[in-house]
Formats: sequence, C-alpha cells, structure tokens
Amino acid sequence: MKDHYLLHIPHSGLEIPNKYLDDYLISADDLKQNIYQYADLFTDDLFDGLYKKFGGVKNSYSRLLFDPERFFDDKEESMHQQFKLGWFYENSILDERPLRDTKHKTEIAKYYREHHQKLHAMTKEKLEKHGKCTLIDCHSFSNETYWFLEDKSRLPDICIGFEEYHKDQQLIDIIVDEFKSYDIAINEPYSGSLCSHACTWPPVRMNTWPVEKVKNILALL
Ligand SMILES: [Zn+2]
Repeated sequence: MKDHYLLHIPHSGLEIPNKYLDDYLISADDLKQNIYQYADLFTDDLFDGLYKKFGGVKNSYSRLLFDPERFFDDKEESMHQQFKLGWFYENSILDERPLRDTKHKTEIAKYYREHHQKLHAMTKEKLEKHGKCTLIDCHSFSNETYWFLEDKSRLPDICIGFEEYHKDQQLIDIIVDEFKSYDIAINEPYSGSLCSHACTWPPVRMNTWPVEKVKNILALL
C-alpha cells in the first residue's frame, strides 16, 4: 500500500461471538441497543476509499466485546478507574449497571492483542518503507450540537482534527478531496487529536508518529 498513511477504524464493528453472549447480564434487546448506540456506524463504509488506498485496521467486533482505544492495563485507564469502562467494559454504557460477568476477560484479551498486533505490524511496515507513519483514526460524532461546543452555529458532516504541530497539508488535501461532496470543517467543532498510546506496542519511533483524527457525522438508524 502506498504512502505512509494508515487507517484505524476501531468502533464500527457490531459482532460479539456467540460463545460470550451468556456473559452479558442485560437483556438481549438492551445489549443490542447499547451495541448500536455506541458503534461508529458505517465508518467502515465511509472510509473505505481511503482504506483501500492506504491500508489499515478495522475492528469488526463491537466495543462491548473490547475497546481497542483504551489502555490494556486497567490501572492506567481512567475510564476503567472511574466507570469500569476500560478495554473490557464491565458496566453498560447507556445506563450505569453491571454489563457482564468477567469470567472470560482473560480469554477476550486475545482479541485486543490480535487487533494491536495487526496495527503494530502494519505500522512497522510503513515505518520501514517510508520512514514515518501517520495514523488516520476514524470515528463518528453525534449529530446533536452539544452545550459545550464553542461555536454552535455549524455542525459539519466531516471534521478533520489535528494538532498544529502535526499538520500535514498533503493529508488534509487528500481527505478534503475524498469527501468533496460533504461539508468539511477543520478543527471545528472538535479540535486536536489523540496520540494513540493506549496500546501495548513497543515504542517503535513513536516520536515520529503523528496521529490525525477524522470524524464524521452519521445519524443513528
Ligand atoms: Zn469511536
């Protein structure tokens, strides 16, 4: 795959293997509602063009099985400390109540590890080939204008968020071109990006590894 870009689509998946369904303590309907409401639905379709161009890692599993964007060590993960919503959600998201039995937590850890091993291998390949690797982290955001947004006048379809010191005009141009039929905003209403350190990778030249975050609006069906 050409160029040093790599896509990460962590939250579009809806799958939970049948063998773990009995672990969930909420009803099948409630589970389904939690899965759909908190998935970044269709981000895999939306970013498919860029995915084919640059390659990347998609997670086909629901974040209610495991969330790859949380620290693996629960002690380091504030979402686990505060809400029991680390890489292995122990509480339901829509309302605070126990989500599932933890008896398969160690077994489910292998899904988390496999995801990061894939991402690590692809990152390493890009680094070897191009000397750098930029991760395009693909999420969705709500179509509601939240009270905490500074500018409430405009909610774009696509928001490209990055830190100024990671600015890559070539990448911005590629994304703008890819989504030219959409309303695109840069660093508004959501600005900045997250450095993806919530992982167990060895430090493969992390300092040369800027991370872009691309978000998009999707109405929940
Ligand atoms: Zn997400």
